[in-house]
Amino acid sequence: MIRNQIAARGVRDKDVLDAILRVPREVFVSTECRDQAYEDKALPVGPGQTISQPFIVAYMTQMLLLESSHRVLEIGTGTGYQTAILAQLAASVYTVELDANLAHLAEQRLARLKLDRRVAFRSGDGVEAWRNAGPFDRILVTAGSQTMPEALVDQLKCGGLMIIPVGRGKTQMMLRIRLRNGVRVEQPLIACRFVPLV
Ligand code: SAH
Repeated sequence: MIRNQIAARGVRDKDVLDAILRVPREVFVSTECRDQAYEDKALPVGPGQTISQPFIVAYMTQMLLLESSHRVLEIGTGTGYQTAILAQLAASVYTVELDANLAHLAEQRLARLKLDRRVAFRSGDGVEAWRNAGPFDRILVTAGSQTMPEALVDQLKCGGLMIIPVGRGKTQMMLRIRLRNGVRVEQPLIACRFVPLV
């Protein structure tokens, strides 16, 4: 998976690839899909929910330019697969999931893999999020938003980066937002398809 789907398509950051290597993706997918855990696709993990395609997870992680001192906010914990990778590269990860059951299962998985030490879990609406824990160096939204949620941009530190899929149709454009001297710079990255941010 790492060689053929991720590195071959341009994600070559060694720390990112090492972090992915340490997370068994089969633990995050349903039993019926386990034989497909390392295929190049998103997989269903519940009603209307998916675990993201491995390449997309790797790509977003690389584009976040994480440093070991960073405080990261993740919106849309889902299975916790992306969380497990972020947790190895940052100082702390605050992850929010709307669905309380998914949030609970993700927390259990990361605990079992001993990857939960730097992670705080919460269930609720991520857009209103975790104001008392912010501002954050990095924000990653792993659900498609119709518009730019200003409440999230407000929680970004000066010099910080946020990656978010934004679009009104079935597909979105993944955007990287950078705050530089109070000025917001938006960089379109790639087209993608996430479940909607509710
Ligand atoms: N990164 C995940 C996949 C996320 S799928 C993984 O690796 O498995 C998107 C998730 O966003 C879904 O679980 C959905 O319930 C959640 N979500 C949607 N709207 C949300 C909101 N407003 N706040 C928090 N989570 C939200």
